Amino acid sequence: MYEGAIQDLIDELGRLPGVGPKSAQRIAFHVLSADPADVNRLATALRKVKELVRFCTTCFNVAESEQCRVCRDPRRTSEVLCVVEEPKDVVAIERTGEFRGRYHVLGGAINPLEGVGPDNLRIRELLLRLGTGEVHELILATDPNTEGEATATYLALMVKPMGIKVTRLASGLPVGGDLEYADEITLGRAFEGRRAV
Ligand SMILES: [Zn+2]
Repeated sequence: MYEGAIQDLIDELGRLPGVGPKSAQRIAFHVLSADPADVNRLATALRKVKELVRFCTTCFNVAESEQCRVCRDPRRTSEVLCVVEEPKDVVAIERTGEFRGRYHVLGGAINPLEGVGPDNLRIRELLLRLGTGEVHELILATDPNTEGEATATYLALMVKPMGIKVTRLASGLPVGGDLEYADEITLGRAFEGRRAV
């Protein structure tokens, strides 16, 4: 189609999630005509995210040091632990302002069709954290879709024998949806109305 650098950029952009060939082409030509300072800032941001951002050694949220902001905050309670699929779900729940406990990020959900089993998620690390006896309630905030429900069911079976209260977010969340797309009010209410499983 195009030659050299512009086609390379279109190809790279086209590999990003949610970017089709037409969008890739539009972004590439936008970059081409943009102010060099703006493009440099974008390039720096891309490089920096790979250099600086890593996963929290405690909860596997994104972090810029050993531990993420939530794990470093001494005002938060360690008695309530909220299990989510991805770091973006932490952001969605933080936006509600309803939760003052800590998180555990699984890194996905059980999905046999795509070969994702319990061993591919950070479930072993979760059970180790629960083994310290500090956690009194585990909130299962996986997505309200088939994979999220399967993951929640699996975790409830594993954790309940440990004598820890296990709760699931209340209904009202759009079924089949992603936690991150729920508005703050709906997600906040789902939190308040969580039920024991
Ligand atoms: Zn953390």
